[in-house]
Amino acid sequence: MDIRVVRAFIKLFPQDRDIKCPYDSYDCLPNMDHNDTIYLYCLACNYKINVGLNLYDRMKRELGGIAKEGFR
Ligand SMILES: [Zn+2]
Repeated sequence: MDIRVVRAFIKLFPQDRDIKCPYDSYDCLPNMDHNDTIYLYCLACNYKINVGLNLYDRMKRELGGIAKEGFR
């Protein structure tokens, strides 16, 4: 996974339900743990959303037409 994909997706689709905190609908920021797993954490309550392959693939699809260069 490439955290740039997640960052780009959040920038372009800030209102997407899957990247909002399920508890307070607050904005989440992407980060990476020591296993290179990407997660989003809520700025308000620190809840963590793991970015699984399904969500990651959807992000790539949605970004597809816009930014093709180099995303894997
Ligand atoms: Zn929250």
